[in-house]
Amino acid sequence: MSSKDCVFCKIVSREIPARVLFEDDNFLAFSDVNPKAKIHILLIPKDHIPSLNQLDNGEILVKVKDVAKGERISDGYRVRIHTGKKGGQEVDHLHLHILAD
Ligand code: AMP
Repeated sequence: MSSKDCVFCKIVSREIPARVLFEDDNFLAFSDVNPKAKIHILLIPKDHIPSLNQLDNGEILVKVKDVAKGERISDGYRVRIHTGKKGGQEVDHLHLHILAD
């Protein structure tokens, strides 16, 4: 399920380029285009889930360690999820920020 005006759905469909770091059937991870740390990865569900408010299982959280391992940052990283405009969310497609220095 995708949303036609969603930038992250367009990354999933490869209509917009991204530096993809991890992919499986349900999730995609890619480099943030405007990094706020030395390593700044976004992990998203391929389905268009707008935010944490619409998430009904925790599978994406289990994927974080696979992304971290692939990027060799398992020894230390931060995970952030902005939710809603007031929470700092700018892209309305659920994404986990994975940050490491
Ligand atoms: P948020 O404020 O939590 O919604 O974060 C959105 C993030 O998406 C920001 O850190 C942006 O730099 C990043 N971003 C927006 N467009 C793209 C893109 N086309 N490719 C990679 N990262 C993007």
